[in-house]
Amino acid sequence: MTPETLVKTPSTPSSFTTAEFDEYVMKTYGRFPLVLERGQGCRVWDDQGRAYLDFVAGIATCTLGHAHPAIVAAVTEQIQTLHHVSNLYYVRQQGELAKWLVNHSCADRAFFCNSGAEANEGAIKLARKYGHTVLKLENPVILTAHASFHGRTLATITATGQPKYQKDFSPLVPGFHYVPYNDIAALECAIAELDHDQRHVAAIMLEGLQGEGGVRPGDRAYFQRVREICDKTGILLIMDEVQVGMGRTGYWWGYENLGVEPDIFTSAKGLGGGIPIGAMLCKSFCDVFQPGDHASTFGGNPFACGVALAVCQTLENENILTHVQVQGEHLRSGLRHLAEQYPTLIVEVRGWGLINGMELHAEASLTSADVVKAAMQEGVLLVPAGLKVVRFVPPLIVTTAEIDQALHAIARALSTLST
Ligand SMILES: *Cc1c(COP(=O)(O)O)cnc(C)c1O
Repeated sequence: MTPETLVKTPSTPSSFTTAEFDEYVMKTYGRFPLVLERGQGCRVWDDQGRAYLDFVAGIATCTLGHAHPAIVAAVTEQIQTLHHVSNLYYVRQQGELAKWLVNHSCADRAFFCNSGAEANEGAIKLARKYGHTVLKLENPVILTAHASFHGRTLATITATGQPKYQKDFSPLVPGFHYVPYNDIAALECAIAELDHDQRHVAAIMLEGLQGEGGVRPGDRAYFQRVREICDKTGILLIMDEVQVGMGRTGYWWGYENLGVEPDIFTSAKGLGGGIPIGAMLCKSFCDVFQPGDHASTFGGNPFACGVALAVCQTLENENILTHVQVQGEHLRSGLRHLAEQYPTLIVEVRGWGLINGMELHAEASLTSADVVKAAMQEGVLLVPAGLKVVRFVPPLIVTTAEIDQALHAIARALSTLST
């Protein structure tokens, strides 16, 4: 190949077509017909130069928005010095990130990987090993909730209490059992029934707020009772903090909204501000992993950890938790105002900090995807959380003015949909 043909290789944005994309990329996603080229703060621009307010943030991931100077600096520094070595050696950035996370959570120790599903796989393995070696269970069972979401690997689609993610992928992984969310009687009943069948519960795995399952906050009394049951029986409490952790709710961790501490928790999405990284953290009493038990080639490399540490420090130095609480309140009150204006379309607005959901009437023909498409026309990116809930997960640095602009655009979108 001559240099000339290399130059002409069709990789520039102008030659890119979505039809070609669909020819070469597996169709695992239903995509909106939008090609984004650039981002700055809470705004992104498409290939036509149109601006959008990004209230998706890579699905609760880009906590510092786009092109944040702290991320640019950390990425640049790390890629110029050392980006990957392997866990054959001590990785300074990994140790520093683990220390930050431990100092800002209830956990004592961390394991690093690359995604939420991988973090949950680690939590499942740790709970099973604890079940076998400490609780002396032959068939340890992990309880999870209906409408939960824990990832797309085989073990995590099994953990996910939604049949639509499991359909066609059997045989699933054994050792999971499902209970309704926020229902303590059902949980107690399931534990007793499993005990009776000689299938004892090793862990209960829950989201503090179900994100994917429709932005449903956990009930404080329920979680406190779950904690009591775990304390009494030795069952581990695993909390999936992949979507609600890292400041999203106005606290570092979703569990802080519920007044409980998990024994194991997982993080990903917001942890790297958009750089792929996941983590599984636990209290020292249940850290039963030995060398050789678990691993990940990319997990905890200097690049991902250096950037994640910069994200953590920036959120902390900019006092982001208070900002998230204030802006979250402002967004919810604006959305509630819209709900009052459109009582036939909107049933409820709910959420914590900057993860909020707007639930549409079950009887109305309108779906969350309809609202997302109409909002996109008005210049705001939103993401569905199931068929009837529209999710709002902007960057944590979102300003009052940006929220007001988004609310006006959503009001225009709702007015076009209600006619
Ligand atoms: C997104 C998500 C996951 C899966 O994370 P991936 O990085 O996509 O593997 C797991 N749990 C929860 C609660 C999530 O929101």
